[in-house]
Amino acid sequence: MSSAATPPVDVHALRLDDARALLEHDGTELPAPADGPTAYLQRIIDGLCELSLRDPLTGLANRRHFRAVLSREIEIVARSGNSALLLMLDIDHFKKINDTHGHLAGDKVLQAVARCIASCVRPQDTVARYGGEEFAIVMPDCQAAYGETVAERVRQSVAALSIPASPVINLEITTSVGGAFAPVWVRSTADLWIERADTQLYLAKAQGRNRVCIDHQQVISVSPEEKSLLFGNLALADSAWGDLTDSSTQRFS
Ligand code: GH3
Ligand code: MG
Ligand code: MG
Repeated sequence: MSSAATPPVDVHALRLDDARALLEHDGTELPAPADGPTAYLQRIIDGLCELSLRDPLTGLANRRHFRAVLSREIEIVARSGNSALLLMLDIDHFKKINDTHGHLAGDKVLQAVARCIASCVRPQDTVARYGGEEFAIVMPDCQAAYGETVAERVRQSVAALSIPASPVINLEITTSVGGAFAPVWVRSTADLWIERADTQLYLAKAQGRNRVCIDHQQVISVSPEEKSLLFGNLALADSAWGDLTDSSTQRFS
């Protein structure tokens, strides 16, 4: 039995002008439609996907991308029991920078902080702009001591920056950092993880800013074998796992 040939796509019949303009404005190089409709459309789709995941000012992952990474990570942690750390960073007294030096100077500070944070972490970590002057770092496979070291390194590196905000002014700033490890062996939620890191960020602010506070609730350590002995035959429904999100119920030892 012969299969019908797929009809070629006529790229000129598609309304791609806006997508093209968006990508070209962002500096994405596109092949010519004449080079082949498949390659051309694939590049446009890839470019739009990439654009939809990135913060335009800093080039970091945007909030949408961050949420996706966080949700994926929480699943991995629930299954593997590996430690993962979420850090939330907030620039101290950032409003004053805007008020005193203008919004453009503020933007330059945000870009410099973004570069600085990205230079402090591993390739497998995700640095995101969470909102305004707030950043987030998702660190998979992260032991407590390492996470603390990185959080402190980020704080100190940002504090050491001298940011040229105009030809005559260099600015120095500080950040407050809050962190929380993902609960292991339980199916928690991204919201809960963010909330715990946020609580620590709030503490860092309340304690005077320019400091790191991390939730050390490292929850349990059971091996995969022990986990399967504990839960293997119980066939717990997802809802039952979901109920184990309260911090007081997550400790097994
Ligand atoms: P705190 O130490 O308590 O965090 O104080 P803060 O001044 O940093 O916090 P606040 O929430 O009062 O101010 C945040 C400011 O960030 C207000 C807002 O105008 C500014 N902001 C948010 N997004 C941007 C941006 O994209 N560019 C610039 N330049 N400013 C921004
Ligand atoms: Mg803030
Ligand atoms: Mg702030």
